[in-house]
Amino acid sequence: MKNLIKLVVNLTVLCLFFLNSSFLYSQENNNNFTVVLDPGHGGKDPGNRGNGYYEKNIALSIALKVGSELEKQSNIKVIYTRKKDVFVNLFKRAEIANKAKADLFISIHCDAFEKSNAYGAGTFVLGLHANQRNFEIAKKENSVIFKEEDYEQKYDGFDPNSPESVISLVLMQEDYLDQSIVIADLIQKAFVSDLKRKNRTVKQAGFIVLKYTYMPSVLVETGFLTNKKEGAYLNSKKGQTEMSKSIAKGILRYRNSIISDLDNNYTDKYFLKIQIASSSKKVPLKSYNFKGLGNLSYLKDNNTYRYYFERTQDYTLAKLMLKRAVKSGYKDALIVAFKNGKSITIEEYLSSYKN
Ligand SMILES: [Zn+2]
Repeated sequence: MKNLIKLVVNLTVLCLFFLNSSFLYSQENNNNFTVVLDPGHGGKDPGNRGNGYYEKNIALSIALKVGSELEKQSNIKVIYTRKKDVFVNLFKRAEIANKAKADLFISIHCDAFEKSNAYGAGTFVLGLHANQRNFEIAKKENSVIFKEEDYEQKYDGFDPNSPESVISLVLMQEDYLDQSIVIADLIQKAFVSDLKRKNRTVKQAGFIVLKYTYMPSVLVETGFLTNKKEGAYLNSKKGQTEMSKSIAKGILRYRNSIISDLDNNYTDKYFLKIQIASSSKKVPLKSYNFKGLGNLSYLKDNNTYRYYFERTQDYTLAKLMLKRAVKSGYKDALIVAFKNGKSITIEEYLSSYKN
C-alpha cells in the first residue's frame, strides 16, 4: 500500500512536471517587457516627402509619443533606435533591438503613393510580397541601404529592386511570425475600431529592417502623406497623439497577453489555447509539422495527444489566434480554456476569469 501511494505521488509529480513543461512559454518570463521603437529614416534620409511633409519627422514624433505612453506603465522598458534627427542604418536598428534582448520591435513609417487618393493605415510583418503593391512599399523603405557604405557586404548582396532577393529575407523571422501577426493585428484593430482609420490590414512584405531582429517585429505604415487629408492629419499634433495611443494600446494588450505577471496570482490558473489537432501518435512540436504555426504545446489524455497553438488570457486575442489557425488550414480548430492545467468550458472561463 505504502509503495502504491509512493507510486501515485511520483506519478503526480511527473504529471505536474509534464504539464508545466509542455505549457512553458517560449518567451522568457521576465517581468520587464522591453519594446524597441524604431522611427523610420532620419538625418540624410528624409523618407517620403508627400505634400512637402517629412516622413522622418512624423515617424519620430509618433514614436516618441508611443514611448511616453508606454512609460506610464510599470515594468516596461522603452528603447529607441533614434531619438533625434540622425541617420541610423537598417542593420544597426535591428542590432539595437537584439542587444537589448527586446520582446518586441516596432518600426514606424508613413506611406506614399503616386495617386493622392490612396489613404489608410496598414501594418506589416516580414514575409513574401503577396502582390506588386506590397513589393513597392517594401522597396521604398529598403532603398535607404543605397545611402549606406558597403551595403552589399552588410546585407549579403541583397538587392531591394529584385523580388527574388526578398525570398532570402524571410526565413529568419519565421519563428516569430505568429506572434508578429498577433501584435500587428492588435495595432490594426486599435487603428480601425478606435480611430476609424481606413483598414489596409495586416500584410506581409520583405522589409530589411524586420529581417535581422530576433523577436516579434512589425512595421507600421501609419498612413499616406501623399493624401491631402491624411497627410495633414499625420502631420498634426492631434493625429500623432491619436495614432501613438493606438499603437501603445496594441502593444500593451500584446504584453498583457503573454507575460506571466508576477503581481497577479491568477495568471497561471486560467488561460486559453487554440486546439488545432489530436492524434494517437506523438508528433514533434515543430512548426513544419503544424502548417507553419509556432508556440506549440500538447497534452496527453488517455491515448490521445491534443495539440495546441499559442496561449493567452485574453479572449479577444484568442479569437484572433483562432482565425490564424483556421487560415493556416486547421478548419476545425477551437478555443479551449484551462484552469490549473485542466480544461474547463469557455463559459466557465469567462465567468470566473475576468479579462
Ligand atoms: Zn518609411
